Amino acid sequence: MHLRHGRDADGNRVSPSPGLVAFCENCEDSLISKCGSVRKHHFAHRGERSCDTWHEPITEWHVEWQDRFPSQWQEVCRVGSSSSAKHFADVFTAQGLTIEFQHSYLSAREREERESFYGNMVWVVDAYRKSDFPRFLRGIYTQIPGSSVYLPRTGERGFPPNWLNCRSPVLFDFGNSPGLTGDLARIAQDLWCLIYLDKLPVVVRISRDEFVRRAHDRAKIIPIVALRKRIETFRLEERQREVAQARLRADRGLWQYLHTKRLGYNKRRYAKFC
Ligand SMILES: [Zn+2]
Repeated sequence: MHLRHGRDADGNRVSPSPGLVAFCENCEDSLISKCGSVRKHHFAHRGERSCDTWHEPITEWHVEWQDRFPSQWQEVCRVGSSSSAKHFADVFTAQGLTIEFQHSYLSAREREERESFYGNMVWVVDAYRKSDFPRFLRGIYTQIPGSSVYLPRTGERGFPPNWLNCRSPVLFDFGNSPGLTGDLARIAQDLWCLIYLDKLPVVVRISRDEFVRRAHDRAKIIPIVALRKRIETFRLEERQREVAQARLRADRGLWQYLHTKRLGYNKRRYAKFC
């Protein structure tokens, strides 16, 4: 278990440096600074012990994301509201939002357990696997005109099964997908957020900078009330469009019917006098 931060004897947050011994915020055991040339500098428990079973190995991807937030928000030890369990949140903001950056596979059961523990949270998923981006592109989405909101027409087939029906918003980062060029690279530059409104999936496109800015400013990344209103308005407009088109079709049908009837009558008369 590698940690990026520890506490000194006075309780101040410290980063690893050669020879520095610090204390773990979770188990309060001493931590040894590991400052080699291969791996990023980190703290480790003696004997490489792990005191947080939820902790996953730190990747470059984690570090890049975490470093977009103030150091005091990174790797924060959270205590459960209904138990004395403690876990490190990748980022916990001053607005009370937990952000978990998930690189490795997580089952739906583990995911639900963590959502219950952290409460107000979002996931950022490293969707780097070969199948992740092609699967996302195979989904069919209707974009609400003039917005960054997309309604999946093929259900949730565009997303990995273990991330479906999530209680918290899941932002997919396709940036590490292999072979990205041109338009595909542009699509993967942004984050694609899967969120459920009244159990129906909605996809929201959000730039990386906008995500970070919102996480600094507010407790919720996606404004649910505004999003729900936008979708309701779109559905209402869509229904009105459908009714208008149906009326137009009906009018055309009636005109064709009358026209055909008259032609038939003329044809019969023509046949009779020839
Ligand atoms: Zn510990």
